[in-house]
Amino acid sequence: MSEGSVDLHCHTTASDGTFAPRELVAEAHQRGLRAIAVTDHDSVAGIDEAAAEGAALGIQIVPGLELSTDVDNGEVHILGYFVDLRDHELLELLESQRASREERVRKMLGRLSDLGAQLSMDEVRRFSDDGALGRPHVAQALMRAGLVGSWDEAFSRYIGRHAPAYVRRSKLSPHDAVRAILAAGGAAVLAHPGLSRYDDMIPSLVEAGLAGIEAVYPEHSEEQRARYKGVAGQYGLIVTAGSDCHGPRSRSGVRVGLATTDYGVVRQLREKARIQRARIM
Ligand SMILES: [Zn+2]
Ligand SMILES: [Zn+2]
Repeated sequence: MSEGSVDLHCHTTASDGTFAPRELVAEAHQRGLRAIAVTDHDSVAGIDEAAAEGAALGIQIVPGLELSTDVDNGEVHILGYFVDLRDHELLELLESQRASREERVRKMLGRLSDLGAQLSMDEVRRFSDDGALGRPHVAQALMRAGLVGSWDEAFSRYIGRHAPAYVRRSKLSPHDAVRAILAAGGAAVLAHPGLSRYDDMIPSLVEAGLAGIEAVYPEHSEEQRARYKGVAGQYGLIVTAGSDCHGPRSRSGVRVGLATTDYGVVRQLREKARIQRARIM
């Protein structure tokens, strides 16, 4: 019997989402979800507000985050759930990740300026609400300044991976990200493996302490969902589901609730985190 649906991957204005935390929670509540995880990039700054709104509306907020890590020719994202939000080492890691994001945006603005597209840091910051700065904010600023006509043009002409103003992020390995989440008493989950396509890495991530895999994801085909569920079975991983909602006016749109799983998965993640905390205490 279903205990209610949960969406375990949502962004807010604490990173590159466009919903304020309370707006995200209200939207999820309207869509009938029992719980959502707030998983901002390199930030846990949206969780308190989301939790307060969740308490008011009667929807559970799972505290989380999403760490971007670098691998050869791409990125791997690691989700963390039920981490200790006051863990000093984790907070320091998030701060240095955000600082490197800011440094990266500065470099991109330098390259844009060389290309004749002048933007100031303030014009970019306006779109981030003090959250972790990223390319989506640069894209919005380019559009606002009339330097591009669309989101797609911002990426294809300037800041996409193969475009001239693109700058790589500084390095954190996926394994380090898993270990950092464990050290903060949380459960680590491999985000959207079908997008990242680094399946070879899964066994070593499991060795590092990976607890779950986001097999259910809007862009995953049926075949991919089945494959990653199989991988989960093989390694004893929890199968999670997340929409990766970035809110209205984002590239992918409002999609909270588009990928969901049963509430029991929240319980499994919490139990993993509880065991991990007992281990490190
Ligand atoms: Zn991601
Ligand atoms: Zn995400």
